[in-house]
Amino acid sequence: MTWYFASVNETIKGAKHYFYDIPDNVRFHFDKFKKRRDEQILRLNGAYERNWNREGIDLVQGTARFIGQKEIEVDLVDGSGKAAYTAKHILIATGGYPIVAENVEGATHGITSDGFFDMEHLPKKIAVVGAGYIAVELAGVLNAIGVEVHMFIRHETFLRQFDPMIQETMTKTYEEAGVIIHKKFPGFKKIERLDGGSALAYDGNSHEKLTEGPSPGKRLKITDSNGEIFEFNELLWAIGRAPQIKDLNLDVAGVQLSKTGHIAVDEFQNTNVEGLYALGDVTGQSELTPVAIAAGRQLGNRLFGPPELKSSRLSYENVPTVVFSHPEVGTVGMTEPEAIGKYGQENIKIYKTKFAAMYFDVFPAEEKSKHPTQYKIICAGPEEKVVGLHILGESSGEMLQGFGVAIKMGATKADFDRCVAIHPTSAEEIVTMR
Ligand SMILES: Cc1cc2nc3c(=O)[nH]c(=O)nc-3n(C[C@H](O)[C@H](O)[C@H](O)COP(=O)(O)OP(=O)(O)OC[C@H]3O[C@@H](n4cnc5c(N)ncnc54)[C@H](O)[C@@H]3O)c2cc1C
Repeated sequence: MTWYFASVNETIKGAKHYFYDIPDNVRFHFDKFKKRRDEQILRLNGAYERNWNREGIDLVQGTARFIGQKEIEVDLVDGSGKAAYTAKHILIATGGYPIVAENVEGATHGITSDGFFDMEHLPKKIAVVGAGYIAVELAGVLNAIGVEVHMFIRHETFLRQFDPMIQETMTKTYEEAGVIIHKKFPGFKKIERLDGGSALAYDGNSHEKLTEGPSPGKRLKITDSNGEIFEFNELLWAIGRAPQIKDLNLDVAGVQLSKTGHIAVDEFQNTNVEGLYALGDVTGQSELTPVAIAAGRQLGNRLFGPPELKSSRLSYENVPTVVFSHPEVGTVGMTEPEAIGKYGQENIKIYKTKFAAMYFDVFPAEEKSKHPTQYKIICAGPEEKVVGLHILGESSGEMLQGFGVAIKMGATKADFDRCVAIHPTSAEEIVTMR
């Protein structure tokens, strides 16, 4: 919803090229939108809870921790005390939390993605620290609605887990869209609050109150490790997420962690303790909502389903994923360096195209060039099996799902070519590449 909010502003800006008389200073009301969005989320939460009720599932609200290998105690959120439960099967799906830099004095004066969604008023000028998809998504939204956005990244490009085509083009596109990117950023040393706000002001709804949260009129003086000084109205930490395990007393249950500190699981979501399972972000496996849901379905099938489902498990290969940046990015399968590493340079073939989507044809040439569309197909072996697809441009999110099905089925480049193009679309370029 927040991405759509920003996209509406981009469409309003583009409308003049379609000869709509739209004033330059169209006003919007972020606070009203935020209220409406939160109401919608509450409505969704309520719908899920009612469905659980119908299924005969009891919802116990509180913080759980292990008090025995198969016993948990819940500190009830309504303050009525504690309740203990035991079960043959226990699933840990406690997710993750956003990391705030530990070695930076005054780091808690900033916000995390939780604070971003608590924001009722937009800051004039924000520092976004981080180069992952959350940093890129939130920076893109804020830039599209007129906030002065500075991104601080350690290297030359962001989205460094993605294919180089995505990294390079998206970093350049953000710069051309007005985001100020501070590359090879040495790190912040000290953050001081100039407006005298206090931690007590924050009553956000995040699970973990890690920061002071957003507040209107915030003024931050930031000193980086080279002694350079900046002033911002907000600072957003988007430097990664860690598994939410510290309340859980996992040592009491004897659950082992992986090298990265996530709960270690096998391909069936079993932990090292029989009858204890884990999935979703707490395991660090492909941290995406539908991945957690799919892993949960498969686990349910395996534990409680009919005999033919007794070896159900989620395949984590070729999971399609989208970055809700401006423009959107979609990716499934291997990046080019990964494919070279696995198959060898001589055994892969790359197909690439770049063009401007038809929507931008009426834009002046200089502006049109700031809105790229780029696609890359990575094929392996003599049969040219598609092992990676990377796309950026308008509607990439909606486009990728269908190609995800084809790639999961083992499609080759010839299969792509056999599909007749839909004209005139951007997607047709994916089935007509030479
Ligand atoms: C800003 C942002 C944008 C994202 N965008 C996307 C996106 O566009 N698409 C996508 O697929 N994914 C997206 N994700 C990732 C997605 O949110 C996660 O992968 C997904 O929520 C993981 O589900 P989960 O069930 O593992 O954990 P969560 O959804 O985090 O749920 C864990 C729950 O456990 C609760 N909990 C924690 N500890 C305890 C305890 N001790 N006792 C009781 N309860 C506890 C937490 O309060 C929470 O409610 C985004 C994440 C962020 C932060």
